[in-house]
Amino acid sequence: MAKFLVIGEVKDGAFRNVSFEAVGAAKMIDESAETVGVVLGSGVTDAADTFYQYGVDRVLTVDDEKLENYTPEGWTQALLTVIEQENPDGIVMGHTSIGRDITPKLASRLGSGLVSDVVAIEGGATFIRPIYSGKAFEKVEIEDGLTFVTIRPNNIPAPEQDSSLNGSAEAVQAEIKDLDTVIKEVVKNTTSGVDLSEASVIVAGGRGMKNEENFKILDELAEVLNGAVGASRGACDAEYCDYALQIGQTGKVVTPDLYIAVGLSGAIQHVAGMSNSKIIVAINKDPEADIFSIADYGIVGDLFDIVPKLTEEFKKAVV
Ligand code: FAD
Repeated sequence: MAKFLVIGEVKDGAFRNVSFEAVGAAKMIDESAETVGVVLGSGVTDAADTFYQYGVDRVLTVDDEKLENYTPEGWTQALLTVIEQENPDGIVMGHTSIGRDITPKLASRLGSGLVSDVVAIEGGATFIRPIYSGKAFEKVEIEDGLTFVTIRPNNIPAPEQDSSLNGSAEAVQAEIKDLDTVIKEVVKNTTSGVDLSEASVIVAGGRGMKNEENFKILDELAEVLNGAVGASRGACDAEYCDYALQIGQTGKVVTPDLYIAVGLSGAIQHVAGMSNSKIIVAINKDPEADIFSIADYGIVGDLFDIVPKLTEEFKKAVV
């Protein structure tokens, strides 16, 4: 029987949803495979048990204070120990900043394959991933050998949570040597407490917002929709918001259910980061703006009239 490790990411005591989607991905690759959840961190053992509710067969933890914050050194040491112990056929995790950092490192250390940024899985080990900044998709087939797979958040369904499933995580004794990297401060950059890369609703502002103060109307709309605020690089360059909010080719790649593009033109580099959103709504005063060519719904008009009205209407609808 094949065995897959599913590496979970626990942040502030809770799993990132993409970790559960990674369980779904492992089951899509091979329904009959044994799935083993792996959680690294400090004080993560209680949270780790939640993995069972998504149908993993076993959960392993490396709970060590040296893993309190992500460092490539600490995670490499811990994961190499787990991989050596378990000898898996495949390793799946989210295409998050951690996933993007650690998987190429481990794949090169182990001489194994890596299929990154997977958005769909067809018939077992056949993966679909975007190329050329999302303008085309390629199909990658894996025949055999250990392979790392990272999946883009919000694309592969997670198994239904079943709270009747439970178990206790097994601790792996991994010796984590002193780290050269010292994390001095972790700065959290989220709006409404919702992580941009996993948000199901994103309200993104562009240079049309005119100044930093005006971004507040986007915060209000995002809050009522339980979404996150993003931005074009135009808005970041103009210092209306932090670069952590930038979406696009050189920013974050997102796939929310709903993307509301406000006062941004739809430059190709921006579209590269959001074109796979399920529903795109564009608000722009220029009826010729490129963003309308990829929008499902377009509103031509002044964003300063439209956005507050939308917020009011959604407030009435979302009780
Ligand atoms: P603009 O193009 O200036 O558009 C502003 C829009 O606001 C206009 O369409 C205007 O009609 C509208 N508007 C103005 N006032 C109002 C109003 N009152 N009501 C309604 N609408 C209004 N860009 C990214 O976003 N992400 C990236 O990752 C990225 N990477 C890049 C990488 C490279 C190598 C390069 C060269 C560029 C990159 N860019 C990226 C920049 C990109 O080319 C554009 O310059 C940028 O996206 C433009 O931002 P914008 O749409 O906010 O601004």
